[in-house]
Amino acid sequence: MKLALLLTAIDPNIGGVIIFGHRGTGKSTAVRALADLLPPIAKVSGCLYGCDPKRPEEFCGDCAARSRDRVRLKHDLRPVPVVDLPLGATEDRVCGTLDIERALVEGEKAFEPGLLARANRGFLYIDEVNLLEDHLVDVLLDAAASGRNIVEREGISISHPARFVLVGSGNPEEGELRPQLLDRFGLFTRIETISDLDQRVEIVRRRERFERDRASFAEEFAAEQSDLRKRLNRARVLLPRVKLDRDLVFRIAELCVALKVDGHRGELTMSRSARAVAALEGRRAVSVQDVKSVATMSLRHRLRKDPLDRIDTGSRIAEAVAQIFEEIGSTRLAAIR
Ligand SMILES: [Zn+2]
Repeated sequence: MKLALLLTAIDPNIGGVIIFGHRGTGKSTAVRALADLLPPIAKVSGCLYGCDPKRPEEFCGDCAARSRDRVRLKHDLRPVPVVDLPLGATEDRVCGTLDIERALVEGEKAFEPGLLARANRGFLYIDEVNLLEDHLVDVLLDAAASGRNIVEREGISISHPARFVLVGSGNPEEGELRPQLLDRFGLFTRIETISDLDQRVEIVRRRERFERDRASFAEEFAAEQSDLRKRLNRARVLLPRVKLDRDLVFRIAELCVALKVDGHRGELTMSRSARAVAALEGRRAVSVQDVKSVATMSLRHRLRKDPLDRIDTGSRIAEAVAQIFEEIGSTRLAAIR
């Protein structure tokens, strides 16, 4: 789960993450913790959508108008937003509301921004995504994929930048997500309750220390936190220069064929994620190990479910990976290794 979240922080194009697992396993805590790891971002001052002053092509109507009028846009630094989408949120609350009467008279001012506006350039977290209406999940995935939120009503249309990483958590016992929706999340991770006694005790003790004195607890992990922050930042800078060998792409495609993955999102996600892993490790070339480490989380939710199949999809992927990437005598792969 942590690796998947870090990878999307390095490359938001990987798409969202879906975290399936038991309640009380730290899913939302992990997502909220991302904000502290990422450097603050520059936002146009006074803009409701947090437009990026360096990307005028993505400006909201307001910023675009101001820059057309040659108003010098000021900006300030703000933390990366991590926005919670509460269960039962309406489409209006999510996408924003358009006041038709006022819109006819005043134009864009009649738009009341929703959660998508707040999540722009950050993360949008949905707890229990499988309890959300499919239609709303669809809207969210559309906005996440296009980077814009478009609200249309009675012939009036308003759009604003909404570039965010969607993170959904779900409990497998509470209803399934349609496969068409699952496939549109970049990565899939499962998290289980820990059964190791020592680790369980350690969780209780850490939680107690945290509740007793938050500042000194944070201090305990300050060095680790700062190391991770530096690694993430370096990885984001390094990412565009990370090379993925053609032979490895070939193997990735071969793996998707072997597992009968529909469409091409599987290999795209795997390639991007493997690049992000290499960047996180501070390397300029993707290794076989990088690809193997992201195979399950990139493909698990894209496998067709066979009701008669008793093997877990995770182990099916592991088997196929072993076959395709461990072929003895493959000199081409040995060279990459
Ligand atoms: Zn703006």
